[in-house]
Amino acid sequence: MPRAFGVVVVMVLAILAPARAQTPPPFVMGAVTAAPGTTVSGALPVPAAPGGQPTTIPFSIVHGAKPGPVLALIAGTHGAEYPPILALQRVRAALKAADLRGTVVLVHVANMPSFLRRTIYYAPEDWKNLNRVFPGKADGTISERIAAVLTREVIDRATHVIDIHCGDGNEWLRPYSYWVTTSAPDVVEASRGLVLAFGLDHIVIDTERPTDPAASVYLANTANTRGKPGITVESGGWARTDEESIARIERGVAGVLRHLKMADAGPDPVVHPVWLGRNEVLRSQHTGLLYPMVEPGQTVAAGTLIARITDFHGQLLQEVRSPFAGEVLYVVATPPISTGEPVGFVAERAAVKN
Ligand SMILES: [Zn+2]
Repeated sequence: MPRAFGVVVVMVLAILAPARAQTPPPFVMGAVTAAPGTTVSGALPVPAAPGGQPTTIPFSIVHGAKPGPVLALIAGTHGAEYPPILALQRVRAALKAADLRGTVVLVHVANMPSFLRRTIYYAPEDWKNLNRVFPGKADGTISERIAAVLTREVIDRATHVIDIHCGDGNEWLRPYSYWVTTSAPDVVEASRGLVLAFGLDHIVIDTERPTDPAASVYLANTANTRGKPGITVESGGWARTDEESIARIERGVAGVLRHLKMADAGPDPVVHPVWLGRNEVLRSQHTGLLYPMVEPGQTVAAGTLIARITDFHGQLLQEVRSPFAGEVLYVVATPPISTGEPVGFVAERAAVKN
């Protein structure tokens, strides 16, 4: 092009550039395009595989009018965990795209087969735990295919990830978060900021998550192993839909939005949380009936009876006892129990890190 014309073009671009930088490009997910300042919804298809059914993952995008982080909020990784699912329905309605800096991706029900068939832990088709098969396989079983779609379409697109859980349909739980410390130092530090901003006052320090992105196993750890801050939070359980558990998640999301400067207002971070170090999922050595003997939030000594397990005729098979002094974070509170399944989760206070 003629030199003079080129100079004019450069000048015009220079004038336009600052305005353009304030307006992010549209955000595309699946078949849906979100213009800046809009909220849109759609569903990610999870294709069928030989011998397996297809499914979908319903999502919403709240695409801010100004640029900023891409925060992924995921509910329903376990389909009988209802407060996370109900909280995101409210978050979708409450978030105003025009006021938001950045983008919030809401996954409303990650594990649709489990949700619709009301299964605990496992998907009905393959009997696998979605939160143990990440990053998934595009040609795998239903849980693996869901994980592959979530990894590619949600986690890889996000800058920050929060996987929102509660006690599963059989688990009676007090609220807590997991902070993973096995990823890169900057990711660990940024994840610490997220976990404090979400505001739950008990935080399990998880030092044992895998570091290989090809075998990340857990959803939030898939973000961590790919260099992104991510946390898992737990509020509610036992198949309940109580207001307190739902509101606690809404509050946590608002705290994270403020922390990431995506919103101006929001609750303060938790100031003096209880950091929990040594922790153990206690498991049953038998199949039969389970009788919980403690409540979540209860302080226990080494040797405290957590649960009794009997056979189907009432004969005692096992007394599950706490291996160390600590606090009960959840206990299974419905009678069915099979060999190897969790009975409860106990954690010990760590040295103060506040
Ligand atoms: Zn869960």
